[in-house]
Amino acid sequence: MSISFLIALLLIIIITVIIGYLSSNQRINASQQTQLQDIESIEELLPQTQCGDCGFNGCRPYAEAIANHAADINRCLPGGDETVKALSLIIGLDIKPLYKKTDKYAVPRLALIEEEHCIGCVKCIAACPVDAIIGAPKQMHSVIDAYCTGCELCIAPCPVDCITMVSPL
Ligand code: SF4
Ligand code: SF4
Ligand code: SF4
Repeated sequence: MSISFLIALLLIIIITVIIGYLSSNQRINASQQTQLQDIESIEELLPQTQCGDCGFNGCRPYAEAIANHAADINRCLPGGDETVKALSLIIGLDIKPLYKKTDKYAVPRLALIEEEHCIGCVKCIAACPVDAIIGAPKQMHSVIDAYCTGCELCIAPCPVDCITMVSPL
């Protein structure tokens, strides 16, 4: 076997390995892209209150868990039955009843700060997942009604219990 034949054979093997590696990388990228699209399609169906009632730290992590088959489609309480139905259609799973009965989101409610009691500790601002509270340290705080999703996450952190949930006017 001549040296030039061996070199040619070696080159063919190297080129074959490189082509195989590149095409497998392309397949991985295509599958990652598909999964990303799945996550985004699922996330678009979620109400974006970022309330955490599903047991995940916001809508995006819940969408990722659904796309990875690590979570049921019936955990978003603010989205209610309509969201379960929409998720079932794009995921191709049967509709399930919501995982827990609650009337928390049955009637829309807004947080209201009793401003005369507010001590300006800013704890509610830190707790609000949708930036619906404005205020500065040691200043009175207020809720921006248009942004409030009624998640109630600001209630517990308030040290003077001056936040209540009310029906919108
Ligand atoms: S319960 Fe629904 S709205 Fe709340 S964080 Fe989870 S997916 Fe988002
Ligand atoms: S103001 Fe309170 S109830 Fe409203 S979205 Fe923010 S944390 Fe939730
Ligand atoms: S947590 Fe209560 S006291 Fe503190 S800033 Fe918010 S409303 Fe005011």
